[in-house]
Order: sequence, then C-alpha cells, then structure tokens
Amino acid sequence: MYDLAIIGEGPAGMTAAIYATRAGLSTVIIERMFSGGQMGETPEIDNYPGFESISGFELSSKMAAHAKKLGAETMRGDVTDIEFSDGNNLIKTSSRDVRTKTVILALGASHRKLGVPGEDKYKGLGVSYCATCDGNFFRGKDVCVVGGGNTALEDALYLAKICNSVTLIHRRDAFRGFDSLADRVSKEPNITLLLSSVVTEICGNERVESVTVKNVSTNETSSVSVSGCFIAVGMIPNTDIVRDKIELTPSGHIAAGESTQTNLPGVFAAGDIREKISYQIITACADGAVAAHMAGMYIAEKGFGE
Ligand code: NAP
Repeated sequence: MYDLAIIGEGPAGMTAAIYATRAGLSTVIIERMFSGGQMGETPEIDNYPGFESISGFELSSKMAAHAKKLGAETMRGDVTDIEFSDGNNLIKTSSRDVRTKTVILALGASHRKLGVPGEDKYKGLGVSYCATCDGNFFRGKDVCVVGGGNTALEDALYLAKICNSVTLIHRRDAFRGFDSLADRVSKEPNITLLLSSVVTEICGNERVESVTVKNVSTNETSSVSVSGCFIAVGMIPNTDIVRDKIELTPSGHIAAGESTQTNLPGVFAAGDIREKISYQIITACADGAVAAHMAGMYIAEKGFGE
C-alpha cells in the first residue's frame, strides 16, 4: 500500500509529489497521458517565478524530472473508479489497481466546447483546442482564435508569429485576460480583433474554410475566411470519476478550501479541479505543496505510519 496516490501529473500533482517524497511518503502519480496537463500545452510562460520565459513543455519536463529524482513513481493508466475508504482507498485503473492511505485529486480541467455547428465535424480538420500542439499545421495561413481569457490572448500572440493572420473573436468588448497580454495583442500587426462577436458556425468542405460570426450588438452576420479555428473559451473541471462520491461546488469544482481538504478523510484536491480565486500554474503548485503536507499530517495523526 502506498502512503499517497496523486491522480494527475500537472503542476499541482508534480509539486505534491516533490513535497510528499521529500517528506518520506511513498508516492505514486497516476496519469493517463503525459506530464504537464494544460501547462504542457502553453506556448510561453512568463509569470512563473525564476523563469522570465519558458515553454510549458520545458517547465513540465523539469517538474517531472524533479519529482522522479526524489523517488516518486509514475504510472500511466486511466482511472476507472475510486473506492474511497478512510486510510485504505482503492484506485482502479486501466493498467492496475492501487491501494493507498491518502489521495490527492489533481486532475485539472478540460477544454470547454463552443457548441456550434461544425465544431465536432471539423475537430482535427481545422478546429483545435491547443495552439501549441497544432499551430505549426497552420504556418503562413489565416486562422481565428475564439475567447477573451488569458489562453485566447496567449494563443493569438503565439499564432501571430507563425500564421499569416489571426482574427481574435470575443463575445464581449473587454477581455477577461491580463491587461498586459491584451496590450501586446492590440499592438500585433497581424492580429485583427472582432469584439462583441460570437461564432455561430464553423464551415468548410473537407476542412475548415470559414467561420460565420454574428456581432451581438448589431446582429449583423459575416463570414471570415480561415483555415484554422482555435477555440479557447475556458475549462471544465475533470470531476467525472468522483462526481457522485465527493462534494462539488455549484460550478462543478471539488469543494475544498485553501487546506485542499475535501469532505472525505485523507482525500485532498489540488489545482484547477478545486474551486479557487486564481487558476494559475503557481497556485496549482501551491495547492500541491499544501495537499502533500496535509496528506503527511493525516497519516501521522491517524497513526497509519506506525
Ligand atoms: P477563462 O479565463 O475562463 O476565459 C474564457 C473566455 O472564453 C472568456 O473570455 C469567456 O468570455 C469566453 N467564453 C466562455 N464561454 C464562451 C462561449 N460559449 N462562447 C464564446 N466565448 C466564451 O479561460 P482560460 O483563458 O482558458 O483560462 C483559464 C484559467 O487559466 C484562468 O484563470 C486564466 O487566468 C488561467 N491562465 C493563466 C495564464 C497565465 O497566467 N499566463 C495563461 C492561460 C490561462 P467572458 O469573458 O465573456 O466570460
């Protein structure tokens, strides 16, 4: 039996692993894909202390190597079910089952869909949710980015460097993302802003050829020719496997305060899966450190370690 199983290998999970292994807890990280989560898809990170500019892939690789060096075990597999039981939890996965005294849920969040005609049809044929992963396929082409948060602003800046033109389409006339990023976007010569506008359809033949855009102030509709449509309209917390077993907030996040303690004993929630004020890499890391500390305290208090 492990002292701690961490589900999810994003910044929250990897930091939890670093702190837990340093505190002497036997630790396994369970991840279905690859390390990094959303961070791994971020083109350029310029607000993580100590790194003026670093790619999400590089920062993810550094965190994963750090956790591994300290003795954290990593296991690849889809978690299919969790049977929570105070001090003796059973995590069922597609590769093997894991018994553990404590659990940190660090599953992060997934891309929200726009829900318009053409979105599913052209996924992978011009519709993308990850500029870093797919941007290169649109080198020299015209693309659009949908959304007004930090991800949309960063994606627009990233794509502006490699594409012919970027149209940034946002449903309001003010951005949700940082002013500093919005300033950079407004100064980029090949980014065009379509504000107070929504995409109503993604059109094409074999691949995306255009998007239909409606101005929500005037109700006027227009067509924008693009080969790629990058959708960055927010995230939905990945709570599917625990939805009926753990307390959630009205927004669908796991209910856990700054202590990361959920309503279940010995079970903690860290990173974007937890309802919080600021969804940043650094705050996910902070959650991971707190959750690992809490897991260690829980084991010591319960006397499981003796
Ligand atoms: P977000 O901040 O939730 O922004 C989502 C954007 O999509 C908003 O502008 C929202 O419009 C728009 N939107 C939502 N649903 C829509 C719909 N159905 N149709 C059209 N537009 C829609 O999401 P995010 O940009 O993915 O960022 C998630 C979190 O990660 C945030 O806390 C963000 O600060 C953080 N993050 C930080 C960094 C960084 O620090 N460098 C980078 C990336 C992300 P409204 O504004 O009108 O609601």
